[in-house]
Amino acid sequence: MKDISQVLMDNRINLKHYGEGNQKVKCPSCQPPHNPKDNPLSVTIENNTVVWNCHHCDFKGGSGDGSNSFKPKTYQTRSS
Ligand SMILES: [Zn+2]
Repeated sequence: MKDISQVLMDNRINLKHYGEGNQKVKCPSCQPPHNPKDNPLSVTIENNTVVWNCHHCDFKGGSGDGSNSFKPKTYQTRSS
């Protein structure tokens, strides 16, 4: 399993901190050109995993099962 900082670096996401909880940061998928003052990417760290979801462009992913590479605006539905 990749660690959180490596996953975030691979996805060009810069966090304010690596503590557990939710934070809003810049989105590598839509900024630029989206408003540079906005922090649309919601990132949650919990139990050594990270998930993120952009409220502006729907860029989402995480470190959970390794299936989330850098695929902005691509949806994949599957049942588990
Ligand atoms: Zn975005």
